[in-house]
Amino acid sequence: MDAALELLDPLVLDKAYAYFVPASPVQVQGGFSNGTAASAVSANQSYGSAWPRDNILRQCISILVVTQIGATLLYLVFSALSYYFVFDRRLEYHPRFLKNQVRQEIISSIKAVPWINIMTLPFFLAEVRGKSLLYTRVEDYGWAWLGVSAILFTIWNDFTIYWIHRLEHHPLIYKHIHKPHHKWIVPTPWAALAFHPVDGYVQSLPYHVFVFICPVQKYLYLILFGLVQIWTIFIHDGDMISDHWLEKYINSPAHHTLHHLYFNVNYGQYFTWADSYFNSHRPPRPELDPLLEALRVMREKGLVDEKGNPISQNKKGKKDE
Ligand SMILES: [Zn+2]
Ligand SMILES: [Zn+2]
Repeated sequence: MDAALELLDPLVLDKAYAYFVPASPVQVQGGFSNGTAASAVSANQSYGSAWPRDNILRQCISILVVTQIGATLLYLVFSALSYYFVFDRRLEYHPRFLKNQVRQEIISSIKAVPWINIMTLPFFLAEVRGKSLLYTRVEDYGWAWLGVSAILFTIWNDFTIYWIHRLEHHPLIYKHIHKPHHKWIVPTPWAALAFHPVDGYVQSLPYHVFVFICPVQKYLYLILFGLVQIWTIFIHDGDMISDHWLEKYINSPAHHTLHHLYFNVNYGQYFTWADSYFNSHRPPRPELDPLLEALRVMREKGLVDEKGNPISQNKKGKKDE
């Protein structure tokens, strides 16, 4: 968030605050009531607004606006790309696919975003106010650390998100927090943020906490942070790429599809090592593909032939006449 505000303050936020909360004429002329040098510096940083960049209220509002727009845009753009270009829409014929499911997933996601952002505000505010271990100059820790910190970030997330997710499946917790996300037995990419807000928040805690215990270059963190969000969308695309050698190690969409179908398997985030080590791994097999069931329904409805090829509805209509 540190990096995001640093980019957006000069680009748009300074102008917005100058417009909505303009500096008083006295401030603009530099003639502060107390006339101290510190005030003059503060006015200098305010760019025509009564609220300088380090005003805590301004920082809170900026963070909430930026996260709201950023998270919503990221969700809409990447979910749409995934839904229209990757997701196999024949899955919508699966018997467990709900009526109006896509609509419900989108509404649930859009509703969760502001609450998750509000809960996350203290972390972002602390980052912006310099309380985290985010740093700017790569040279401070060296280029090697850049790579090491990215690896540590991934391992840390993988381990902690695995356990948070697994604990959320404990019967005492499940029905209060995680159940809404399992409403989708055959999810679409639009389910990526369709969580109870507390669920979305606790699953994001690891990467917010990370920058307070380990130094990370702030632009690298911005990229890693964005990638986590995109990955969450990606694993909901329902694609069963089976028998690829990488599938042994990567928690693919196929794994997460099985998590939604079979519930207590494949809790992981990026990789399968935690699931394998803690005995919850279920490897994707072609025969587990929910598409098979969807195609069976489509065949019954006369939409596809025995081989799964679409039957032209015009031709079929003529034959019936
Ligand atoms: Zn789950
Ligand atoms: Zn899911």
